[in-house]
Amino acid sequence: MHIARRMATLGTETAFEVLEKARSLEAQGKRIIHLEIGEPDFDTPMNIKSAAKKALDDGYTHYGPAPGLPELRAAIAKVMSKSIGVQISANQVVVTPGAKPIMFFAILACVDEGDEVIYPNPGFPIYESVINFVGAKPVPLVLREGKGFRFDIDDVKNAITQKTRMIIINSPHNPTGGILTKDDLREIAQLAVKHDLIVLSDEIYGRCVYDGFQHTSITQCSGMPERTIILDGFSKTFAMTGWRLGFGIMPQHLVPYISQLQINSTSCTASFTQMAGVEALLGPQNDAEAMIRKFKRRRDIIVDGLNEIPGFRCQKPLGAFYVFPNISRTGRSSRELSEYLLNEAGVACLSGTAFGAHGEGFLRFSYANSVENIQQALDRIKSAVAKL
Ligand code: PLP
Repeated sequence: MHIARRMATLGTETAFEVLEKARSLEAQGKRIIHLEIGEPDFDTPMNIKSAAKKALDDGYTHYGPAPGLPELRAAIAKVMSKSIGVQISANQVVVTPGAKPIMFFAILACVDEGDEVIYPNPGFPIYESVINFVGAKPVPLVLREGKGFRFDIDDVKNAITQKTRMIIINSPHNPTGGILTKDDLREIAQLAVKHDLIVLSDEIYGRCVYDGFQHTSITQCSGMPERTIILDGFSKTFAMTGWRLGFGIMPQHLVPYISQLQINSTSCTASFTQMAGVEALLGPQNDAEAMIRKFKRRRDIIVDGLNEIPGFRCQKPLGAFYVFPNISRTGRSSRELSEYLLNEAGVACLSGTAFGAHGEGFLRFSYANSVENIQQALDRIKSAVAKL
């Protein structure tokens, strides 16, 4: 069968491939500790599950409006206006099955063939994939370990050309756990206004922050509400990865375009899932807050443990649930070491290069796993690396 040429430009997310490899080793009887996949190991809070069950009984089993149910759009506008500190109306919200479609739809709707898009590298692999898919040029913005995996604003200035259409930022950041400061956001905003650029701001880890850090959205900066698309969702904050529930907040004139893409692809997001989303946002927040406290403890354990392994150097990130140790002093490439750790130590993690060329020299570990498993993984990694 003929496969369309454009498929050759589409990338993927290696995490799912490594997960598959790890599962096949498990099928052979090997015990694998999973530190590769970016999903909370906690169960979805009970009040959210109950809301979904009630919604099913109440008949939320039909198609809904393409941009989302009014109940959920209103809840998102209410909660996000407060947390972001900028007034958002329900008409600026589009609800999608997971947050990922916002990435796809925003780039499809706003970026032409031949345009340039600046994106973080290392970074979530789907940015580069979709930029290539629409025939635009991905322009990597290097994140620097020495700056806590933040960028150098001069690198942003140098990356902007006449053809730049969009800048993608992601804070807290996957895969490094790094965050952008208010000054970083202000500097990016000034450049975006000066060069008339759209900013796609991936804030899906906005509530996964530690040590008193306060997440700020670039939308707060002057001139930004009219040029920012915020990507956010329920997967990480409420342990709802399998529910597929996310949203975008954007200038109102963009909503019909993003909705049209939704109509052409998924029609709408599952209705009972959306009603569960209303409960997630407006109901009690203690379970979500308890998850963050647990993540913080795990972060401290994994960072300290990795720093004790010869050849590893690991920063303590302020956000998300990932660490991104520098492993260049082990003398192995990222890919070699990740494969070695899977096969020899039974620890699944990702090569830094799964997040772009500038991830070479690093590994990504997700600490969305129990303290016992993290401790055992650290012991196994230490013994395996000692044998290198
Ligand atoms: N953005 C980032 C940075 C992510 O890490 C992820 C998921 O791993 C997503 C977006 C997509 O989230 P969702 O599961 O809601 O589609």
